[in-house]
Amino acid sequence: MAKAEATAKSAPDPKDSAVLVADQIGMDVDDLVKSFYFHLTCTLAKDEYSATDQDRYQALALAVRDRLVGRWIHTQQAYHREKVKRICYLSLEFLIGRAMGNNVINLLLEDKCREAMRRLGLDWDQLRDVEVDAALGNGGLGRLAACFLDSMATLRLPGIGYGIRYDYGVFKQYIENGYQIEEPDNWLRFGNPWEVPHPELSFIVNFEGRAEPRTVNGVTHWNWVGTRPIVGMAFDTPIVGYGAYNVNNLRLWSARAADEFHFTDFSRGSYVEAVEDKVMAENLTKVLYPNDSVYAGRELRLRQQYFFVSCSVQDIIRRFKTDNDNWLSFPDKVFIHMNDTHPALAVAELMRLLMDKEDLDWDMAWELTQNSTGYTNHTLLPEALEKWPVSMFERLLPRHLQIIYEINSRFIRKVATRYPTDLDRLRRMSLIQEEPEKAVRMAHLAVVGSRSTNGVAAIHSRLLREGLMRDFSDLYPERFNNKTNGVTPRRWLLKANPKLSSLIREKIGDGWITDLDQLRKLEAFAGDAAFCKQIHTIKQANKAALADFIKNELDIDVAPDSVFQVQVKRIHEYKRQLLQCLYIVSLYERLKRDPSLDVVPHTFIFGGKAAPAYQMAKLIIKLIHQIAGVINYDPAINGRIKVVFIPDYRVSLAEKIMPAADVSVQISTAGMEASGTGNMKFAMNGALTIGTLDGANIEIKEEVGDDNIFIFGLTAEEVEQSRPSYNAYRIYEQDDDIRRAIDLIRNDFFSLTEPGVFRPIVANLLEHGDYYMNLADLRSFMTAQERVDRAYRDQQSWSRMALLNIARTGRFSSDRTIAEYARDIWKVQAVDVTATAAKPNRKA
Ligand SMILES: *Cc1c(COP(=O)(O)O)cnc(C)c1O
Repeated sequence: MAKAEATAKSAPDPKDSAVLVADQIGMDVDDLVKSFYFHLTCTLAKDEYSATDQDRYQALALAVRDRLVGRWIHTQQAYHREKVKRICYLSLEFLIGRAMGNNVINLLLEDKCREAMRRLGLDWDQLRDVEVDAALGNGGLGRLAACFLDSMATLRLPGIGYGIRYDYGVFKQYIENGYQIEEPDNWLRFGNPWEVPHPELSFIVNFEGRAEPRTVNGVTHWNWVGTRPIVGMAFDTPIVGYGAYNVNNLRLWSARAADEFHFTDFSRGSYVEAVEDKVMAENLTKVLYPNDSVYAGRELRLRQQYFFVSCSVQDIIRRFKTDNDNWLSFPDKVFIHMNDTHPALAVAELMRLLMDKEDLDWDMAWELTQNSTGYTNHTLLPEALEKWPVSMFERLLPRHLQIIYEINSRFIRKVATRYPTDLDRLRRMSLIQEEPEKAVRMAHLAVVGSRSTNGVAAIHSRLLREGLMRDFSDLYPERFNNKTNGVTPRRWLLKANPKLSSLIREKIGDGWITDLDQLRKLEAFAGDAAFCKQIHTIKQANKAALADFIKNELDIDVAPDSVFQVQVKRIHEYKRQLLQCLYIVSLYERLKRDPSLDVVPHTFIFGGKAAPAYQMAKLIIKLIHQIAGVINYDPAINGRIKVVFIPDYRVSLAEKIMPAADVSVQISTAGMEASGTGNMKFAMNGALTIGTLDGANIEIKEEVGDDNIFIFGLTAEEVEQSRPSYNAYRIYEQDDDIRRAIDLIRNDFFSLTEPGVFRPIVANLLEHGDYYMNLADLRSFMTAQERVDRAYRDQQSWSRMALLNIARTGRFSSDRTIAEYARDIWKVQAVDVTATAAKPNRKA
């Protein structure tokens, strides 16, 4: 009784409730155990007899979550109180993977969690693996966004991620008879303990209707009327910075029917139509489009883009208005970053809201919009460039089309004053393409409407300026810049490779975790044979663990002392999994001809999903399986070559694979891979790269040194120069090894029961000009592979090279990338939440 009174008397301000609660949640092992039981019992209503692994995972996840919400609330309070400038990172994809292991590491709670679980007779590592990946992305672009969130939180930058809460992430991949089968990824089936729904944060998003003028005091304003509204509801996920100083927010939008809202301009039909409307509305955020680097042009996708852009921009304006009263300060308080052109509608939506809802005039709205937005280009591939048909725009987003036309006409007038006689330039630069069909060029909208356009590796940014966006960089040279990608060392080294991480900690402490350049200190041990041996031993242990996994999952025996040569990434012709296949077949064919050939035993590991409609990519998956089916069981090979395709490549699988690789295969046609980030994860874990001079491979080579990487093939310039005269068939005719390898495929040696299946692949190589230049690079690739073999034979030297790769990949931390964005593009400062946190309002 007395206690209750005391509590009532010192009832804190609502804003201090987080302090009060946080004080009651201890960080010790006992507290974790208690919390675990509390959630198992009170939240999940289970006991030790009825609890499943899933329950135990959920109970632990909630116990961990309890330990970060205080900090989460405080961080948001501090950002609000200090009225700081926020980075709003808009991305249609966030390929997060699993949250628990990462959160526990960033909260510095891993040892305690392990101990708490041990006391309960549970295994922390096993429990952690119960979590399903949040696979709200396809590949590199989505994973980059996830690494960026980790780095923003760790660097204490006030960032918020905005995206879509897809009910179904990227499909699950199964293999049947060598063919990819896709199944829906129902990742929310067991609920998601990391997200917090916020029905109070719901916004109306309109579609269709028409733009109508209204004149006030002689000035024309526009109303968007007769629309079909949908509601977007926020789900928030905490993003814990390493050391848990700041906990940022990832806000994902889920579509809901608007029926509980009343609209004068939306006349509802019959009951059944209304329910159909509801189903339609909720379909909007059902599924992630499974394409990587390919534009599909589906109307639902455009709807998804506008939906998440509109919710996010409305939320941004709402927040700005609660903290500020002067529109002029908008660019000092907000930066909206567009991850690729998928959110490029943010330019038109911000213009619309500033003019139509906030009554600013065009010039003011334009000034604010341009100065508060930036765009990252992710690809030069023509098939990836988004061009939405004007007819589709007109129907779905009539007011936005009107705004885009106005942006365009003002822009074209500006270009025309600078280049009055250059009509072709005007046509090239227009936001509207005329041929073959009228369409809005989203990249042009993003560049013209924003302050900064960046590429994601030095070569990519250069090719962007000199090629695809040449006209724009002539006009706005100051807008173009490079930000070479990076990956978070918390997930990709500390979490993925615990053995290597503890060895590094023993040698150089743990400053590298947030300052990856400190890995350079390891160079001092390059001459230390005992240390190099330790690196080798760890690699072997990681390889043995992957070998066990492969045995369990696929029942294939692979030798941990063979060279693990790994190519894992989306399956795409430009990434050239086919080139690796051709090499393997040629190696096999040479071994068959001369079984006494002294080769280093190799395990060739592949993994990756093909977009479900991408027939050629799916056929390459089939080819890999057919090659594996022959080679793995050929007694003449006697296990010297193994080929393995690990299905359902995803973040949690990448974490198992990267630490176990000896060789990282990064062999895209030069000029086609914007950056790559898989290449960085491998190098950081001590794999040596065999690769082309493409994307970030070039910068990896500069960092690790020419002696510690295997480079081959044409350069981007050589690819372009040789295209007109390139004759793949001549190479086939003149190079005996290459011809024999292709003939094996062509003559159905790998497809006896399905004759002719690989005809499209062979035809692409020999008849249709081999657009990706596989044969142009194959001989050079084979020579580079010989260099790999020679290097691997000297184990001590190999381990030294691996060590130098680890030591010299500090530049590829996403912390470095994000620090550059913050300094050059976003102009935002770190916020020290511990220093600014509200003092608890407790009476003595
Ligand atoms: C890093 C990563 C990628 C990107 O790999 P690239 O080799 O750069 O294409 C794709 N998928 C997953 C799951 C990843 O972790």
